Amino acid sequence: MSDTHTVRAFLEADHHPWGAAMAAFAARALAPRAEPPSDDEARAEARALLGILGAEGAFTPIGGRDLRACCLAREAIAAASPLADAVWALQGLGITPLLVSGSDELRERWAEPALAGEVMSAFAMTEPGAGSDVGSMATRAVRDGDAYVLDGHKWLISNAGIADYYVVFASTEPEAGSRGISAFVVPAGTEGLTYAGAQVMSAAHPLGELRLEACRVPVGHRLGEEGRGFMLGMATLDQLRPTVGAAACGMAERALREALDHAVSREQFGKPLADFQLIQEKLGRMAIELTASRMLVYRAAYEKDLGAERITTEAAMAKAYATEAAQRVIDDAIQIVGGLGVLASHPLDRLYRSIRALRIYEGATEIQHLIVGGTMVADAKASAGASGGEGA
Ligand SMILES: Cc1cc2nc3c(=O)[nH]c(=O)nc-3n(C[C@H](O)[C@H](O)[C@H](O)COP(=O)(O)OP(=O)(O)OC[C@H]3O[C@@H](n4cnc5c(N)ncnc54)[C@H](O)[C@@H]3O)c2cc1C
Repeated sequence: MSDTHTVRAFLEADHHPWGAAMAAFAARALAPRAEPPSDDEARAEARALLGILGAEGAFTPIGGRDLRACCLAREAIAAASPLADAVWALQGLGITPLLVSGSDELRERWAEPALAGEVMSAFAMTEPGAGSDVGSMATRAVRDGDAYVLDGHKWLISNAGIADYYVVFASTEPEAGSRGISAFVVPAGTEGLTYAGAQVMSAAHPLGELRLEACRVPVGHRLGEEGRGFMLGMATLDQLRPTVGAAACGMAERALREALDHAVSREQFGKPLADFQLIQEKLGRMAIELTASRMLVYRAAYEKDLGAERITTEAAMAKAYATEAAQRVIDDAIQIVGGLGVLASHPLDRLYRSIRALRIYEGATEIQHLIVGGTMVADAKASAGASGGEGA
């Protein structure tokens, strides 16, 4: 559920009905759908959810570049279905680079139907040897006439094997490190691109490996200039990290609701659990962390919507804090619910398994901390340099 009141200082008038509509849609159309019991079923369910989300217009704010509306959508969707949230996340990651740097042809062919939920996108950056250290990627793209020839191995890729197109990052100039990376649109079915198998998570989430072997991609499928792929990837992640924080808020909010409902109805030692101060303290701490998370998430989205070119620091703070806080809130919620909370059929168990990955994907928490700390140090050094490096 999206609590637009708490963050109203960061919202425009039309965000409130949008948040309410997304919450009503998620409760009606997503919450009743059970978590698929196997990876194969999760893949089929992800494709079904794509159509449901698209028909509802849930991806529209990605195209409208309304980051606060994106956050409201993800918050509502994640509270009802972490798998539907993963589907939303990957549409965001796969569409945004095309909107920023794609040709008219690529936008019409892939981004527009993806916004309607008619085609599924994916974002293939991570490799066995290149996780946090994206600049060390080994996938190569070599120019050959009017095409590039891609060779490499991607893993931990969401929607691998079920996407209709992949935004693939590859090095066009290995000696230039991150400045030598370019991004390409590679449609599924392109000769030389193969799905190399699933990487099965404990929560329903279609994840897997891709191989690129002499995979020819037309020059027109490059996104932006050669060597600008790393910047494009980082700008995309900047923009979408607040939405990861929003998804974490949705999951935490659902957990808090489950815990509160349980605490007021469950009696032990002759009275409801909610009457014990130790339970009230836990609930209070959970609510404070959730509210603080929302403030950081919507602050970051607000800055972007107001025209900030990059929101690197704000997005890093929002993603790191909200995902870590959500993990604690969900854990506390299970503690309040007790044994029932760890049953596989309980919504809290699904949230517990689902939230874990948000602390890792799109840049692990430690990397977000490094972004914030590194920026502070760079600013401090710059201002020391500007003042001649002399103390007061
Ligand atoms: C569910 C899920 C979905 C994903 N989907 C996608 C996708 O669609 N596309 C895609 O490209 N990738 C995807 N990923 C991959 C994800 O982006 C990477 O897992 C992430 O970037 C971390 O990389 P790594 O797993 O290789 O960990 P590593 O980079 O090996 O890091 C391991 C640990 O070391 C820490 N660490 C690393 N460097 C430093 C440092 N300098 N200082 C301090 N600590 C450090 C990290 O914070 C982390 O805690 C997905 C991952 C998951 C779990």
